[in-house]
Parts: sequence; C-alpha cells; structure tokens
Amino acid sequence: MELFFYFFIFIFGLCIGSFLNVVIYRLPKKESIVSPGSHCPRCQTPLNWFHNIPVISYFVILRGHCKFCDEKISFRYPFVEIITGILFLLISLVFGIGVELFWYYFPIVSILICIFWIDIDHRIIPDQLNFLLLFFGLLGAFFSVKVTLINAAVGGGFGFVLFYFFSWAYFKVTGQMGLGGGDIKYLGAIGTILGFVGVLDLIFLSSILGSVIGILYLKFSGQKAQMKSSIAFGPFLVFATLYLLIGGDFLWRPFMTLM
Ligand SMILES: [Zn+2]
Repeated sequence: MELFFYFFIFIFGLCIGSFLNVVIYRLPKKESIVSPGSHCPRCQTPLNWFHNIPVISYFVILRGHCKFCDEKISFRYPFVEIITGILFLLISLVFGIGVELFWYYFPIVSILICIFWIDIDHRIIPDQLNFLLLFFGLLGAFFSVKVTLINAAVGGGFGFVLFYFFSWAYFKVTGQMGLGGGDIKYLGAIGTILGFVGVLDLIFLSSILGSVIGILYLKFSGQKAQMKSSIAFGPFLVFATLYLLIGGDFLWRPFMTLM
C-alpha cells in the first residue's frame, strides 16, 4: 500500500513538472500560464492531449520532435518533469506521508524548480515566485510544520537584511551590482522556511558552491572578459536550499562540527 502511494507521488510529480515547464517558459515573458494550451514554439500548432503526457509523450510519441514541423524539442522538458518526480518522492520519504506534503512541501519544491531555471534563462527571480515562497513559508510557520513562527520571522528578516547589506557593501567596494534584488528577496522568503540557523547554513553553503563553480567556470571558459559578467546566483541558492531542506540536518551538521 505504501509502495503504491510513493508510486502515485512520483507520477503526480511528473504531472506537476509538466506544468512547471509552462511556468518556466511563460512567466518571464508575462504570458498567461493557463491559456492558450501548449503549442509548438515554432509552428504554433496546438498540441493534442496525448502530447501532454509527461515524459512518455517526449520519448514515445513525439520522440524529441514536433509532430507538425519537426522542430527539435528541448530535452529540458522531460528532464524538469523527472526531476520534479524525484524531488517529490525524496521529500515524501524524508518527511513521511501526510497532508503537509500537498499544501507545504510540494508547492515550495515546485517554486524552487521554477526559480532555478528562470534564473538560468533570464537572470531574474520573478517577484511573484518570491512572494509565493513567502506565502507558503508563513503558512507553514503558522502551523509550525518545519519552524515556529518566531524562527520564521527571525530567519526571513535576518536573511533579507544580511543579503541587503552584502549587496550594498559589494556595490560600495566594486561599483557594480553583485547580487540582484531577486536574490535578496529570495533570502527573506526562504528564511521563513529554513529558519534562522538554516539561513546561515544557506548563505555559507551557497557562497562556497557559487565560488567553486564560478572559479571552475572562469578557468574552463578561459575568457577574462567573463570576469565581470556575474553568473546567476539563484541556481546556487536553490541547490543549497534543496540540499538543506531534504538532507541538510544529517548531512551538513556533522561537517559543521568538524570545523
Ligand atoms: Zn512545430
């Protein structure tokens, strides 16, 4: 019976992932996410219902191409669906089967997935997504799902103010914007979910991650000119957030005590 439930969660994740693809694609363009229905970005032909079946449609029915104009369809679509399914499954394995999955954890993970890809594509974190994160964070804190209301308020306030200060200091020293306004708002919103200590972990972890990947990127792209163009920081924030949300307590704390 439990196995059946986890299977259902995974399939549910695939379907939500399919919807997240639409949000990732349309939200930054300020297009409606409900209408019109899915269509090919090149020939505009509306897709049939069976073209919208997650993963299966990409690999079995469409085989990576639009059936009408043969335009290649990005592998990212099934990838986002599968990642969403896996994350939903992981989250329910870690936090157990319960209603909070549906009104707290799944919405949060979904928003994080959207932020990850939109920031990669457009280097912005849309206000709507940060606002939704804050909404679910406060809602969960009100019922003390993960952190208490006080911890959420302190975590959110602290994250926001600290990142605001970082950004201001960076601007004063270098004369350019290091962190975007979206990153600062994200810290404020995610602080209500991770709490005070979680926000500290997040800042530490995402900075290390960002520096390591940033240095590797510069080394291998080999362009000095790239130095000034900042890489989007959102994906690192999301990656570290998911890590802390899913496994952080037992994977991260032992490491902390070593230092
Ligand atoms: Zn087409």
